[in-house]
Amino acid sequence: VTFKSLGLIDELCEACEKMNFKVPSQIQREAIPEALGGKDLIALAQTGSGKTAAFALPILQALWKNPSPLFACVMAPTRELAFQISEQIEALGSVIGVKCAVIVGGMDMMSQSIAISKKPHFLICTPGRLVDHLENTKGFHLKNLKYLVLDEADRLLDFDFGVEIEKVLKVIPKERNTYLFSATMTTKVEKLQRASLNDPVRVEV
Ligand code: AMP
Repeated sequence: VTFKSLGLIDELCEACEKMNFKVPSQIQREAIPEALGGKDLIALAQTGSGKTAAFALPILQALWKNPSPLFACVMAPTRELAFQISEQIEALGSVIGVKCAVIVGGMDMMSQSIAISKKPHFLICTPGRLVDHLENTKGFHLKNLKYLVLDEADRLLDFDFGVEIEKVLKVIPKERNTYLFSATMTTKVEKLQRASLNDPVRVEV
């Protein structure tokens, strides 16, 4: 199995090669074709499985085909994870000119507002700070969002971000794709799955 055989464009296959990804990991083999086919995903996968590229590559391919600002929003439980995700998306997507902004707590609101006003393709966020900007940053909305990723959903819910996630779900288009990644399947994750995903494919590694 190659990245090419999963349906990825040459530009992104080359980006994987540059990052020394020789063959797709199991989660990538299972998730990428379904995502490229337009399905929502619920993925049970641990850190280290290659889950970031599994959701980033299909979104980058969609962005390449039909670019628009504020295309995708990734919600992560911690600042550190948000920065790691952003680094990986920028590395994989540099060939197609992707722009990312990291919107996390504990950092200056104003410089984040400026970053948002530059209309990046990806926002990688912790939920509390994203809601803060939705409520307070003039002109900012997610009405044209195409992709929502809930990464480490079990931890997002353990950190009580459920209320913030619900607020975001209310202000983004119903017509979008959503990818929910979680290390464990809990009752809370199932409830979030029902609230956010549309006829998802389940992948497990
Ligand atoms: P993640 O599970 O997304 O945290 O990824 C764990 C690490 O694996 C990251 O450092 C990635 O750069 C790396 N990685 C992701 N996909 C592959 C792959 N197909 N081959 C080798 N390394 C990979």
